[in-house]
Amino acid sequence: MTAPHTGGCRCGAVRFEALAEPHHVSYCHCGDCRRASGAPVSAFVGFLVDQVAFTGKALKMFENGPVTRSFCGICGSPIAYVDERLEDDIYFMLGAMDMPADFEPTQHAYVGEQLAFLHMSDDLPRHLKTSVKRPDGTVP
Ligand SMILES: [Zn+2]
Ligand SMILES: [Zn+2]
Repeated sequence: MTAPHTGGCRCGAVRFEALAEPHHVSYCHCGDCRRASGAPVSAFVGFLVDQVAFTGKALKMFENGPVTRSFCGICGSPIAYVDERLEDDIYFMLGAMDMPADFEPTQHAYVGEQLAFLHMSDDLPRHLKTSVKRPDGTVP
């Protein structure tokens, strides 16, 4: 895969472009992502926020504590989230990418909340909570 990487919602009103390679591709099993996506497991592609540009005016935001999720105000597709504790980053829903097959997750986050019937037979690292290191280098 080679930058730029593009993506958008399913009606096309929201489009985005990332000018560099992602630094993070992870599954997330947390209940908040499950509510936001409607799917039993989510996956995210993380970029530096200053390497990303949006086009279109349909992007809406929903704030929930430190996390703000964005979605298309017309078709409702979830697009991305930002976390004020990780202010340099933006994480796109893997399914919002135009070439989702290019972004194979390398780890699982929040497996403590994984649905018991969901079996994923890979040997990727599994984190009980977040898979993203905080700026001080710790993984809480
Ligand atoms: Zn849309
Ligand atoms: Zn999550």
